[in-house]
Amino acid sequence: MHDYQMLINGARVDGENGHFDVFNPATGTVFARCPAGSLAQLDLAVEAAQAAFVEWRHSTHENRRQRLLSIAADLEQEAESLARLIVLEQGKPLELAFSEVMGAVAWTRYAAEQQIPVELVEETPTQRIELHRKPLGVVASITPWNWPFMIAVWHIMPALRAGNCVISKPSSLTPLSTLRLVDIIARHVPRGVISSVTGEQGFGSAITAHAGIQKIVFTGSTATGQSVMRGAASNLKRLTLELGGNDAAIVLPGTSVEAVAEDIFQAAFLNMGQTCAALKRLYIHQSQYEAFAEALTLIARRQVVGDGLAPGVTFGPVQNLEQLALVEELVADARAHGARVLCGGARLDRPGFFYPPTLVADVTDGQRLVDEEQFGPVLPLIAYQDIEDVLRRANAGDMGLGGSVWGRDSEQAQALASRLECGMAWVNCHAQIQPNTPFGGSKMSGFGVEFGLEGLLEFTGQQLLYVRKRETE
Ligand code: NAD
Repeated sequence: MHDYQMLINGARVDGENGHFDVFNPATGTVFARCPAGSLAQLDLAVEAAQAAFVEWRHSTHENRRQRLLSIAADLEQEAESLARLIVLEQGKPLELAFSEVMGAVAWTRYAAEQQIPVELVEETPTQRIELHRKPLGVVASITPWNWPFMIAVWHIMPALRAGNCVISKPSSLTPLSTLRLVDIIARHVPRGVISSVTGEQGFGSAITAHAGIQKIVFTGSTATGQSVMRGAASNLKRLTLELGGNDAAIVLPGTSVEAVAEDIFQAAFLNMGQTCAALKRLYIHQSQYEAFAEALTLIARRQVVGDGLAPGVTFGPVQNLEQLALVEELVADARAHGARVLCGGARLDRPGFFYPPTLVADVTDGQRLVDEEQFGPVLPLIAYQDIEDVLRRANAGDMGLGGSVWGRDSEQAQALASRLECGMAWVNCHAQIQPNTPFGGSKMSGFGVEFGLEGLLEFTGQQLLYVRKRETE
């Protein structure tokens, strides 16, 4: 059994509250132990970050750029072992875990090369007005269990690039790859600039209430995001909240089933459906409903379900039992309302948390599987007749992360997509992300963005510099 350690003020330390178990979802058994930190250790991490910030905030852009590039090089070099660790704690197939690490490398390099511009607001013979961006101080990153490594990188790299110090708190379900990540980052930055803390219940809320922290970047559920926001009020922490989603996709009549079925399947079942901006409700025109149901079922049946480390596996387990129970509950509720389960629909009778890709037909709005975020390997297929009506249904509900429209006529699809009430609207694709395009939700899916210049600037505060020029003779 491997015991992991936290990194506080440049030193690797055990948790003062002992350890907690980390499970492999492919076996359902414990494979490692994670330190259970104390609140005193959280205080130490914050104090170290505050002390480091005194100099780090004034480090040059070139200095920080070089350090991030060195971190990216190390991550790339250790990609294989990092990917294996992600599979063990998260469950996804090795190839996907490898792409998670390589994505993290790309995002790190992008952050390294980003510029933080000084904006010239006005220049006249008598005055010059500039808008400067300054780091905020100590940033806490709180991350979920679905893409543990990638999301930690999304939080940490722009925060460091902008000159902040960071305390990373991963999900207790998938803490290990983040602990490794922080160890790697720490090789390249001064002591205290980065720390990791892990702990059981209560740790997250201690962070949100901590007076020594200036900003929280949080990715997780809407309910926890609300709690973070309440806790952050004590010292008016800046917040970026990337929360839950229930993304709708509308397939317009006349769409080629053959051309889009595979992309739709992948967008819905990426990471076993445990992706915030996965396609979670599929609205299909009545005229093509059965054709799509059949094509998607064939793709689902082709998936090889199993341990992510086994060769040939394309579909891993659900990460944890609680999420699996929610998926089972939603499918049972749909069945009770007369739904047709086209494939899957039951937990596999074997060790581990396996639930095969499941397609559910003859469901509609007002049922739990459609109205709630499933965040797992099940997709409801919903028939529609009228385009204005389906747009209304897609926009119903309080989530607003992403949405998509699929069709042969991309102008028509684009016109409809622009009327979706969500932070990202895609046409003929879904959940497409890249480092230079701002990503963030609307409504109860959160606020603030990540990626691109807008994402970087979320880790800064502004200072207006107003210079009255002296009279020249
Ligand atoms: P979660 O909200 O249960 O946990 C997220 C993190 O918050 C974990 O590190 C957890 O330990 C911590 N936490 C728990 N209670 C806390 C508290 N009171 N204060 C502060 N932190 C606390 O979410 P999850 O189950 O890990 O992740 C799944 C959810 O995350 C889904 O709803 C999914 O849509 C969402 N998500 C959103 C995005 C996005 O970018 N919008 C990305 C990934 C996941």
